[in-house]
Amino acid sequence: MPINQTKLIAMLNEISDKIIAERDFLTELDRPIGDNDHGINMCKGFEAVKVKLETLADKDIGTILKTTGMTLVSTVGGSSGPLYGTLFMKMGMQLAGKNEMTFDEFLDAFHIGIQGVGERGRSTTGEKTMLDAMVPAMEAMKTTWEAEHDEKTALGAGAEAAAAGVAHTKELIATKGRASYVGERGIGHQDPGATSFLFMIQTAAEKF
Ligand code: ADP
Ligand code: MG
Repeated sequence: MPINQTKLIAMLNEISDKIIAERDFLTELDRPIGDNDHGINMCKGFEAVKVKLETLADKDIGTILKTTGMTLVSTVGGSSGPLYGTLFMKMGMQLAGKNEMTFDEFLDAFHIGIQGVGERGRSTTGEKTMLDAMVPAMEAMKTTWEAEHDEKTALGAGAEAAAAGVAHTKELIATKGRASYVGERGIGHQDPGATSFLFMIQTAAEKF
């Protein structure tokens, strides 16, 4: 079943609520390998997103996603703002003018969004960032969608892969972002940005 504006806005509201609820946990993860602000940054961004969503009910899917991304860029001080902002803006550009999206269209847009994150951050997988959750999630969703053609099952597979990706970040030495300053001392700590993405996709899978 295609996803329409109402469904998308409801999902983005659920995702925002989850990020806001996990504010302290995400901030705490950023203490040993960063500057203790990831949850604060994300919470500020998604509180602003919630306010914006109230004005977007009659807008197309592309505009809703693009506005979400622009809101994150303009309200979040840390590097997660431009990075998550790019994810949503690129998805929005890809889905411009659409009143509904199929799951195939969502997956294509998500793929392009992730590529945008990598370009913006000059980063790739294996560097202990959000990409270590996003990329496996995308791959698992594609495989499961092709096999089962069920959105909720595909999102669930994405969430499982993201969780494995987050666990794997504990073993990685960061080469991008603030966590790269602590180098090997970051081993044993999971990446905050990968964890915030895990919360997003878990929420999408649960609430779909
Ligand atoms: P800051 O690092 O500026 O304080 P946040 O704490 O909000 O910003 O976000 C940190 C998260 O951003 C990291 O956990 C990581 O997942 C992600 N990140 C940082 N730099 C990059 C990058 N170059 N590419 C991809 N993700 C990155
Ligand atoms: Mg930080």
